[in-house]
Amino acid sequence: MNKRHQVVIVGGGPVGVALAVELGQRGVSCALVERRREPQRIPKGQNLTQRSVEHFYFWGVLEALRATRVLPPSYPMSGIVAYRDLNNEYWAAPPLREIVNPYYFQNNERLPQYVAEYVLRARLAELDNVEVRFGWTAEAIAQDADTVEVRIAEDGGAGREILQSDYAVGCDGAHSLVREQAGIARGGADFDQLMVLALFRSREFHEGLKRFPPRSTYRIIHPELNGYWQFFGRVDVGESWFFHSPVPANTTRDNFDFHALLQKAAGFPFACDFDYVGFWDLRIAVAETYQAGRIFIAGDAAHSHPPYGAYGLNNGLDDVVNLGWKLAAKLKGWGSDALLASYSEERRPIFKETAEDFIEAGIRRDREFLRRYSRERDRAEFERAWQEHINFSAPNVLTYEPHYEGSSIVFGPPGGTSSARGAHTFKARAGHHLPPQLLSSGRNVFEELGDGFTLFAFDRDETAAFAQAAEALHLPLKIVRDSYDPGRCAYEAKFILVRPDRYIAWTGNSPPTDAATILAKAIAKPQA
Ligand SMILES: Cc1cc2nc3c(=O)[nH]c(=O)nc-3n(C[C@H](O)[C@H](O)[C@H](O)COP(=O)(O)OP(=O)(O)OC[C@H]3O[C@@H](n4cnc5c(N)ncnc54)[C@H](O)[C@@H]3O)c2cc1C
Repeated sequence: MNKRHQVVIVGGGPVGVALAVELGQRGVSCALVERRREPQRIPKGQNLTQRSVEHFYFWGVLEALRATRVLPPSYPMSGIVAYRDLNNEYWAAPPLREIVNPYYFQNNERLPQYVAEYVLRARLAELDNVEVRFGWTAEAIAQDADTVEVRIAEDGGAGREILQSDYAVGCDGAHSLVREQAGIARGGADFDQLMVLALFRSREFHEGLKRFPPRSTYRIIHPELNGYWQFFGRVDVGESWFFHSPVPANTTRDNFDFHALLQKAAGFPFACDFDYVGFWDLRIAVAETYQAGRIFIAGDAAHSHPPYGAYGLNNGLDDVVNLGWKLAAKLKGWGSDALLASYSEERRPIFKETAEDFIEAGIRRDREFLRRYSRERDRAEFERAWQEHINFSAPNVLTYEPHYEGSSIVFGPPGGTSSARGAHTFKARAGHHLPPQLLSSGRNVFEELGDGFTLFAFDRDETAAFAQAAEALHLPLKIVRDSYDPGRCAYEAKFILVRPDRYIAWTGNSPPTDAATILAKAIAKPQA
């Protein structure tokens, strides 16, 4: 007989494993199908945002994650940006994501992606309701009105099975079979540029960078590179590195001198040993929708782009927590189909804008700067422009604040639209991430959140209507009361309704006339 689960997840890279943990913790029975037995040992997504680290806290593995950090704390996560090469007089060490740490419950973190994957796999092993199929490949997926079927095959073995489920999620990366077979089209920009990704070891390279303050990454912009970057990232201190760079279209492992490329980007000679050389095409691809019937896509299956600005994995993990609670709500009977549809409605605009306004715009900005200004042509003009160019990074980080103001399930401002661009504030705003704040107990508001919705009521007792409405809707609601002291005043709201993904659904200063309408809208449930 075919096995039936509530959700089948295809692809157990970081996003698929995280989704299995999220759903498993919410009591959903899942199967996770991943063709690799072990995570691919390429450091890739190293830069975890504050929001991503917050997810690890709620997955119960924050300490394990922090303990596996490879770089010592003395190495800030931000990097050096240099003109032409790393031996150039024009370089800077601008502040990066750490400047928004105060607005989040957790500080950002940096560690190789496979290390984070091992932490998540260990958590997964503790969840009995998740059946893990490492070493199995999904070969086909189909759906009808009430069932999804995934045909899987054991790699190197004779095992063949069909997994049935209520829903399936494709977390199977940029070349997603799930996306293709579900008939979801992709749009985006192809820069028609081949890129190399090299892993190498070199102590001499490390020594050669000692003129800079300790940093984790080194980015080079060069007039010949059309706005694309050459990028060195530390994997550890002293020896292991990754490097990516544009290369000519027909480059292969055998017809190109990668050592010479590294030395040119460095601006000084050094010996090195290569561990890996691979290629990828510089392109941005965004799926037209993240849902087709009972099938969803998340992570790189839904959106992929060059690793400029460290948005890929972080966006994928936000997909997971947005979709996770909605699937669990629907399967437990308090969510609706419209709630499931809000996943694509909320998440897609964020990535589309991240790609267009942050990644593509960043490439264009570098390209413009390099075309317009030349040290050789006009040194004074170049130096002024260089200063302005590097000073842009801090404001850019401050405005990257994904929010769902335009969502149909939050009480955003009139005419609000969901966007990757916002502002970091301590004010509680519907559609935005909950800012951290201490309660009078000394605990952070995040430490008091329930598994479902949470209602904070500061200096207000009128919470009974919410409790009754939640019961009628079978919606899990935790009510937390406290005083509205100088710290919590920063929220500028005496009532704050927080969703299970730690985004705010509604705020108010006086008790609402109809608490049931507010809760029903927050889960897209038509009222009887
Ligand atoms: C050099 C580099 C640096 C990066 N730096 C950052 C960074 O600092 N921060 C950041 O946020 N992002 C970064 N990224 C992007 C990040 O690595 C990706 O966004 C992330 O890996 C996406 O995770 P995923 O699980 O969606 O997809 P993947 O990692 O591609 O995982 C998909 C999984 O699905 C499996 N699979 C595929 N098809 C099937 C099938 N049919 N059956 C079973 N299994 C299947 C694959 O084996 C794979 O394990 C970087 C990427 C690169 C290349």
